[in-house]
Amino acid sequence: MDKAELFCELCDIKLPDMKSKEAHLVGKKHQLALHNNHINDRRKRCGVFIGGLPNMIPKEDIMKFLSDLGSTTDIYVPETLKFAFVDFTDEKTAQELIKKRNIYFRGKMLSIKNRTEKTSTSDKEHPQPEIDYEAINESLKDLLDFDQQMRTLVLHLQPNQEKEMWEYRILCEDLQKCLQNVFPGCCVYPFGSTITRLNFRSSDVDVYVDLTQTPNYVKGNSSQYVKRARNALPKYGLFTNLLAIPKAKTPIVKCVHIQTNISCDFNFKNMLGVCNSYLIRYYISLAPNLLWALMVLKYWARVHEFTGANNKFSNYALIMMFIFFIQQEPYKVQSVDDMQKHKDRENMQDGWNGGFKPSETYNVTLGSKTILEILQEFFKFYSNFDYNLNIICPFLGKPVPKIDFLKPEVIPESFLLYKINLVSLMPFIVEAPLCVQDPFEHNHNLTQRISVKFLEDFVAQCKHSANNLQNSENERAILYKLFTDEPLEGKFKFNNRCEFKIDMHSRLQYIENKLPADVTDKSVEIKKIWYQTINEFVVTVLLKVLKCQVDVLKDVPEKDKIGRKESAVDSVTFHCKGKYNLWDSRRTVARDLDLSKIPSVMDREIEISNYIVNVLCKDITLTKPITEFYLTLSACDSPIQMDFTVTNVSSVKG
Ligand SMILES: [Zn+2]
Repeated sequence: MDKAELFCELCDIKLPDMKSKEAHLVGKKHQLALHNNHINDRRKRCGVFIGGLPNMIPKEDIMKFLSDLGSTTDIYVPETLKFAFVDFTDEKTAQELIKKRNIYFRGKMLSIKNRTEKTSTSDKEHPQPEIDYEAINESLKDLLDFDQQMRTLVLHLQPNQEKEMWEYRILCEDLQKCLQNVFPGCCVYPFGSTITRLNFRSSDVDVYVDLTQTPNYVKGNSSQYVKRARNALPKYGLFTNLLAIPKAKTPIVKCVHIQTNISCDFNFKNMLGVCNSYLIRYYISLAPNLLWALMVLKYWARVHEFTGANNKFSNYALIMMFIFFIQQEPYKVQSVDDMQKHKDRENMQDGWNGGFKPSETYNVTLGSKTILEILQEFFKFYSNFDYNLNIICPFLGKPVPKIDFLKPEVIPESFLLYKINLVSLMPFIVEAPLCVQDPFEHNHNLTQRISVKFLEDFVAQCKHSANNLQNSENERAILYKLFTDEPLEGKFKFNNRCEFKIDMHSRLQYIENKLPADVTDKSVEIKKIWYQTINEFVVTVLLKVLKCQVDVLKDVPEKDKIGRKESAVDSVTFHCKGKYNLWDSRRTVARDLDLSKIPSVMDREIEISNYIVNVLCKDITLTKPITEFYLTLSACDSPIQMDFTVTNVSSVKG
């Protein structure tokens, strides 16, 4: 076979065989690359950069001025209000503006330039270099022994660790010095990855500013303190790019420390962020390999896109899952509850206890394991965990049944603070597919936004990585494999059968209004129209949103196999073949396309599918469909409802 056929130029990777190549072409990575290419190309042609916006003009006025330049799809103005990116619907407007080179706004001349191909939407005046994950992976590819691979990885991620640790210290000292002029007696505590030492190079610093010892301190006044700090800091000349966000859930001030060029966020809310950093640091100290195992895990999650913005895991949630894992057999490290039995270490913060007193200093079992052994067991553990039934609970150090949190009466004894706090705080969200409980704030589900699909992908990757570690005969390029190898098989598989139903609402005014006046039995007629409406809706979704090839299945010998209900007054089965991956890049596409002008939800979904099929997938031809299923609609009479059954075709054919 032609070797070039197995290479994807766009993603710069080589696939082992044709089957993998096809799986890659319909996969998420490739599709997002196509999409980014397309968006960048459109921006290059239809977008402009506008520089030199006048000072002291409200953002609304700037937006108004920019949107009057022509029909736009996107306008970006950063918080500094110094420049803007404007994307127009057509190329002509953009190119004409670029030709002009200058326009005037409130008496000031603005410069207009081409939007560069790769535009960053970062607000920073002092951008930190991004970590190039692909380059790092590439550098691990040909390394033979594991120590060498680890050394290379750590050098990439923490190239100047000691220097940076020193700089973080200077930053905190400077911040405390400045803030003490405003809030005498205040104290700054850094937290997050600078404390746990799990930072990737040039991490931002998170700082909690403790005002409880300052005169006239008022609890719950965070937004006011944030504004005061923001206004006071500039005159000391040590921090720049100051931005107050007083309305956030945790109000913060963002700034850049001039001497070290490190970004810093500080808040006045409570100490729990500091407490959980100390907790993580304690657990990591239990064996020398834990820090490195967690570094690999954090990096693994990042390259496989399990961490980051947009409803993914936070690094914090991932670390809590790791801590929970080492609390199980055979390691059995202490639970948080166990370490809070000593009342003298109590540290109450907004109703939660953030204090703890460990009695264990070294875990012999963990100490005897290699980094790869620990990781393999972590992946195995989360391949088999029962997410449906249990909460991952580092507080008790054991799985807690979700049903224990469904009713206040059945909550376990150990959650005394939770029961007390329920009076004023939101309950723990137990309905989420994945439940990871905060070790201190027990009403906080760290993974409440994780979807079923995302969790399935995570579990599949855990299984795959566990197998990779199990089957590798030697350590050659094992990290490279761990960071780049993704499960291809079964990506688009779903369970063999799934069923759901829709009940007819008792009052369907819009149908009743459509009926001719001479109808004798209104209810029979309404029922008929209702069945018909659902049928039409389903066909539209199958054809236009899911882009399936749809055939009505005529001869149905074994009705129960495809879910036809005996009691149904009428039923129909659609044989559907899907050729496109319309889900993996859907959210990104929806964000980047300008859909705000399309009022109907259905039309928006159709537009997204059209774009994926006609623009992104136009050159991709597959030999066989990636999904094939039967969809059976059974119209039932008492009660009036429509039953849906989706059956995997391969499960029927055997
Ligand atoms: Zn590709």
